[in-house]
Amino acid sequence: MAERLETIRRRIGRACRLAGRDPAGVTLTAVSKTQPDAAIDAALAAGQRVFGENRVQEAQARWAGRREAWPDLELRLIGPLQTNKAADAVALFDVIETLDRPKLAEALAAAGRKAGQAPRVLIQVNTGAEPQKAGVAPAGLAELVAQALSLGLRLEGLMCIPPAEEAAGPHFALLRKLARRHGLEVLSMGMSADYETAIRFGATHVRVGSALFGERKPSAAPSRG
Ligand SMILES: *Cc1c(COP(=O)(O)O)cnc(C)c1O
Repeated sequence: MAERLETIRRRIGRACRLAGRDPAGVTLTAVSKTQPDAAIDAALAAGQRVFGENRVQEAQARWAGRREAWPDLELRLIGPLQTNKAADAVALFDVIETLDRPKLAEALAAAGRKAGQAPRVLIQVNTGAEPQKAGVAPAGLAELVAQALSLGLRLEGLMCIPPAEEAAGPHFALLRKLARRHGLEVLSMGMSADYETAIRFGATHVRVGSALFGERKPSAAPSRG
């Protein structure tokens, strides 16, 4: 694990140098969904602190106890969120990357009011306009940004999952353009297969699962809604 982590960090560093970027500007989010406890503990022991999960309940079971043991942990929700789980998500996650509709913005804001802290969020953009995929359409982004801000959510940036069968570069470029238009700094984009490309296009957070932990069971593929 320490070796794989080191390899990925080195590749991130190299991609940053090639892009003329400071490696400190890129955060590695270790996507730990469906991984066994031992793998997660090994990543923690190797110094990894930022983790991504795609299901609220699974993440609760896994991280509730580890949060206490690792106070500098950062947990990011990268999977679709149902409104009835918004409060649980706000309680567990530091950042929710998958805001994609008005109802969810309202639910997150309400959960934040109850918890006494405005949730930190990214808006997921469906850059490929794939009907089966979560995310707001690029054309609907401006309205959702305005709503999130007026509800008092701490909107930090944008996230996308490009279509699996297309070159990712143009999707990353679109996400960067949209983020700039709205003055947003965080760009969560790039996975095991294309995180170096994403860094070239300005990613501030790359979400790496299988390259770090090994292959998952197919049921956890990112395109599943
Ligand atoms: C599973 C998942 C990842 C990690 O994918 P890998 O190809 O294993 O790196 C990244 N982002 C999201 C949203 C995911 O669901």
